[in-house]
Amino acid sequence: MQSITILGATGSIGKSTLAVIDLHPERYQVFALTAHSRLGELAVLCNQYQPRYAVIAQETDIPTLKALLAAQCRTEVLAGESALAWVAAHSECDTVMAAIVGAAGLLPTLAAVKASKRVLLANKESLVMAGQLFMEAVAQHKATLLPIDSEHNAIFQCLPRDYAQGLVNVGVERILLTASGGPFREFRPEQLAQVTPEQACKHPNWVMGRKISVDSATLMNKGLEFIEACWLFDAQPKQVQIVIHPQSIIHSMVQYTDGSTLAQLGNPDMRTPIAHALAFPERISAGVSPLDLCQYQLNFYPPDESRFACLRLAREAMQAGGSAPAILNAANEVAVDAFLHKKLPFIAIPQLIEAVLTQLPMSVVDNLDTIIAIDQQARRYALQWLSTYH
Ligand code: NAD
Ligand code: MG
Repeated sequence: MQSITILGATGSIGKSTLAVIDLHPERYQVFALTAHSRLGELAVLCNQYQPRYAVIAQETDIPTLKALLAAQCRTEVLAGESALAWVAAHSECDTVMAAIVGAAGLLPTLAAVKASKRVLLANKESLVMAGQLFMEAVAQHKATLLPIDSEHNAIFQCLPRDYAQGLVNVGVERILLTASGGPFREFRPEQLAQVTPEQACKHPNWVMGRKISVDSATLMNKGLEFIEACWLFDAQPKQVQIVIHPQSIIHSMVQYTDGSTLAQLGNPDMRTPIAHALAFPERISAGVSPLDLCQYQLNFYPPDESRFACLRLAREAMQAGGSAPAILNAANEVAVDAFLHKKLPFIAIPQLIEAVLTQLPMSVVDNLDTIIAIDQQARRYALQWLSTYH
């Protein structure tokens, strides 16, 4: 029986994880569930799954959540960042699903890594911010890191088991990272200038949280995934090529020196990568219907960085290295939040990010405190830039 902590249980990935766990009660039990502020939703989950612990953001909300728990529910309620890290590193938990959105996921995910857990990584932002430190901690603490992002899970499935020897040594020429192109794939620049948060959050193939939905619309999601792929698979930026594939049926590919290209295909449903990572190296059912290939025509073409500048910014940040990816991530979080609150037009998202990247000096990041300081400084610059934006 695997005992699981779900960081971000009320989110889209959190709920899909519980849906897979529901199918296999003999294999998985829920140890802890965490949520930011949706107390009502978390209470429903606690009453259903009876985890040992529930963690929320605010100490002052503890009585409210407790009042929502059923009389027979024995879940202990904790609050705050240190409690998130504590349930992620707890000795009675084997597996941690890291599904908090944004930079807030970094510390609890790292806590799980440092406690040598099996870490199912959905929170790509933690790798973008702290890739080197994160991967060093995985190696040092012998944690098992399994990618949940559908593309990275696909790449993992297409790589040989011994890929950690180095991609070139195992005959890999390049990784083909597929992208749907998002809801505005065919929009002209003047149409992009008009788009609303509601349109941006309506992805053609996937149902996701609001932040990642906007990232998918700007293609920053693919930029973050590019950085994520470089760290996860120890790939050089030039070994990762982005390919637009609007149907989201192929979730990514690996090309080998002998001319072979291996792909992982499936219906666009996050329960597949979640089930893969939960059971790895075994296979279990995910509740996802099998792919009916006769229904699809698959298309591929190169991305257009002139309309989707976030892709270029992410690529440049990875090439620059050091603090650049953390700055990119922080500025993007501020920009997306401003767009969702109608304080910034869609097309100004990359402008804000580029302004912060140019204003802030690049530095070396050799410890976590530096990364957190850089993240906060970038957010301050981004907010300043926003305050002067008309
Ligand atoms: P979501 O917005 O649906 O859920 C986010 C979860 O994080 C919620 O449970 C929320 O309570 C919690 N949370 C938010 N802010 C927090 C904070 N400051 N402190 C603690 N908890 C906080 O997001 P999602 O779509 O489930 O995405 C989660 C992560 O998975 C993101 O990093 C995203 O990039 C990644 N991901 C998601 C998908 C998808 O299909 N949704 C696919 C691949 C990767
Ligand atoms: Mg993805």
